Amino acid sequence: MNIVLMGLPGAGKGTQAEKIVNKYQIPHISTGDMFRAAISQGTELGLKAKSYMDQGALVPDEVTIGIVRERLAQEDCEKGFLLDGFPRTVPQAEALDNILEELGKKIDHVINIQVEKDELVARLSGRRICKTCGATYHVIFNPPKVEGKCDKDGGELYTRADDNPETVANRLEVNMKQAQPLLDFYESKGLLTNINGQQEIEKVFADIDALLSQVSQGSRS
Ligand SMILES: [Zn+2]
Repeated sequence: MNIVLMGLPGAGKGTQAEKIVNKYQIPHISTGDMFRAAISQGTELGLKAKSYMDQGALVPDEVTIGIVRERLAQEDCEKGFLLDGFPRTVPQAEALDNILEELGKKIDHVINIQVEKDELVARLSGRRICKTCGATYHVIFNPPKVEGKCDKDGGELYTRADDNPETVANRLEVNMKQAQPLLDFYESKGLLTNINGQQEIEKVFADIDALLSQVSQGSRS
């Protein structure tokens, strides 16, 4: 089962990725992990990627795509894989199609975990930090016992500038604009399934699971 997982920051992609790979026993392939592995193994492409990262520059597509090709050709991807964070653009998606064709594989599903922007802003801007001890809280996911006060020492809780709602909303706009052409691309290929991410974690996974188990019944094996 070959899956591409998409979702904006705060949509719960990491949590669902973990559940999918546990249940379906396929490797979770994220761009960061791939880069780190290629660099630590000292592959030619890994070293190239490192030279860009060391300069604080973006790794060019040809290097990223090469690293993806090497990763997907590895043995543990034979039964499938979950791609997370790649592709990010339509040209990368086209390159991925070419890689998979070379390897005699194809994408079975593109899963997009959908959460409304307002909800994402609430999730992403909810972090609070204690001025005294640095403990972190989240107004939705991990609220302090008394609003605005640290559980440990009663210290005042503050919001980092990065986490303020306008900053978060602007960042999300950029992400949404970037993701849309890719969503359209996969939609036009009939591969895209939107999953409602505004439900309990277990329910989100149940929806994904229902989709994926449908596929495995209908296809080979
Ligand atoms: Zn504290």
